[in-house]
Amino acid sequence: MSDCIFCKIVRKEIPAKIIYEDQYCIAFHDINPAAPVHFLIIPKVHIVSLYEVDDAHQLTLGKMLGLAPKLAKQQGCENGFRTIINTGEVGGQEVFHLHIHVISSNNVLPAMIHRSQ
Ligand code: AMP
Ligand code: ZN
Repeated sequence: MSDCIFCKIVRKEIPAKIIYEDQYCIAFHDINPAAPVHFLIIPKVHIVSLYEVDDAHQLTLGKMLGLAPKLAKQQGCENGFRTIINTGEVGGQEVFHLHIHVISSNNVLPAMIHRSQ
């Protein structure tokens, strides 16, 4: 996708603070971090969202998920982190190239389930 901002980061056409790269994926700091550690892991191939994945993407998806804890530890996440994949407009996705958010602090995000008591 020539006009996709994350494809442009993959092709090094626009700058990003890249923390990891291999043949499958690339990880870089979020430009508008929600917490002291907030980076994104994306596939190098253009996949619009999690909604569009198919069996051919399984290896790449596995690499991305396996990278999350390794990079989180390297970046200084202590005792855990949040992972978020926003999917589609309904899911709050703004950049339509699949990405996993890795976020250090739980305090900046609402709880997933609000209990009434
Ligand atoms: P989402 O709402 O899940 O699509 O999140 C997109 C994320 O991409 C947001 O957290 C943005 O701050 C981040 N973002 C957008 N453009 C860039 C960029 N050029 N470099 C790094 N992060 C970006
Ligand atoms: Zn793309």
